[in-house]
Amino acid sequence: MLDKILIANRGEIALRILRACKELGIKTVAVHSKVDADLMHVRLADESVCIGPNPSTDSYLNIPAIISAMEVTDAVAVHPGYGFLAENADFAERVERSGFVFVGPTPDSIRLMGDKVSAIAAMKEAGVPTVPGSDGPLGDDSEQILQIARNIGYPVIIKAASGGGGRGMRVVHAEGNLLGGVAITRAEAGAAFGDETVYLEKFLENPRHVEVQILADGKGNAIHLGARDCSLQRRHQKVLEEAPAPHIPDNISTEVFAACVKACCDMKYRGAGTFEFLYEDGGFYFIEMNTRIQVEHPVTEMITGVDIVKEQLLVAGGEPLSFKQEDVIFRGHAFECRINAENARTFLPSPGLVTAFHAPGGNGVRVDSHLYSGYRVPPYYDSLIGKVITYGKDREAALARMRNALDELIIEGIDTNIDLHRDLVTDGEFKRGGVNIHYLEKKLGL
Ligand code: ADP
Repeated sequence: MLDKILIANRGEIALRILRACKELGIKTVAVHSKVDADLMHVRLADESVCIGPNPSTDSYLNIPAIISAMEVTDAVAVHPGYGFLAENADFAERVERSGFVFVGPTPDSIRLMGDKVSAIAAMKEAGVPTVPGSDGPLGDDSEQILQIARNIGYPVIIKAASGGGGRGMRVVHAEGNLLGGVAITRAEAGAAFGDETVYLEKFLENPRHVEVQILADGKGNAIHLGARDCSLQRRHQKVLEEAPAPHIPDNISTEVFAACVKACCDMKYRGAGTFEFLYEDGGFYFIEMNTRIQVEHPVTEMITGVDIVKEQLLVAGGEPLSFKQEDVIFRGHAFECRINAENARTFLPSPGLVTAFHAPGGNGVRVDSHLYSGYRVPPYYDSLIGKVITYGKDREAALARMRNALDELIIEGIDTNIDLHRDLVTDGEFKRGGVNIHYLEKKLGL
């Protein structure tokens, strides 16, 4: 078992990781920027180290400062959370080369999945269904590019191999725009990611976003924890998630879960990971894999009873997963509303002093948040300030609890998106389940 862990993150996920460490009897080191000294998990950690000024490039992305903090505190491992350095293969490598444990996959796995072209190739090899596409990067031959797109059929989407965060993509509806689109996407990808590699995929018009959670021990064993639906998105940012993904026939999902597990066994994947798919007309199409814990992991925890962060820590300590696939029992339904400090109309971040905070409670309600009355939301980081998660014996019961929980939730002093969530959980289409990835933006008139 790991003895002391450094948490290289902030906010709600740092608190989430700290809670798991405490339950396992692992000592904790919090690192923080100057402004973050009064974060909730910093108060609760056994030790804390200020690693730099407020901008994340100087603090949470400052690799030498984080490694030094591990050295001075005798931490043996680092948990990167999500965002920041979580999918940075060079960071994972530096950590391991310095003799520490990275709570996550090997640098090679991170690299393989970080390049979408190599990720898709690996998935195809394992029998995971992918989007019809160019089967590798586009070359320089214009005629060949046109022919590939004709074979796929329009509309197509040009994607950067190193793209991320919804950037480096361009939809093309007609052949006349293809070569120009490829040239622009290449240039943009080169500037943004330092890699001009692009590939083509069929553009699916009305898919849902459905993803599969897996856990693996790094020794060739893996299990799945079922699917989540994260179709409610604005600008490719998830807003509200649920598990299981509604209205998907068991025989279809079972096959996809098995393929994901096989892919993890094949690459001796280590830790938690998520396979993201587009789901349309009864078909799953792999788009990418995230090699880290995800914001929306609690909905899966609610319906399986598995503590995903604890399993990450066990595996990182060299232990096997604490259960087998047949031990996983899926029960009930769960929702998660992401609470952001942002203006309801403009969606611009709304940092500032939280003058009052009251969290909802009751049976089947979980709140993952670092907020407290008197906390000041800084302007430097992501606007996520908490997550409200509800569980129920079925979808309707979980949704009824979410309506109550949102009614009870009070955050004063800053703007939040609570009203948007209140609106969504009473929306007729959403209540029926299975809306596609355009639903929220259409509803917002965007
Ligand atoms: P990123 O790494 O930037 O998040 P993804 O490959 O995960 O990029 O795609 C982000 C989003 O872009 C998807 O959730 C979906 O909304 C849209 N998208 C990506 N590929 C396709 C496709 N082939 N057809 C339709 N939409 C797509």
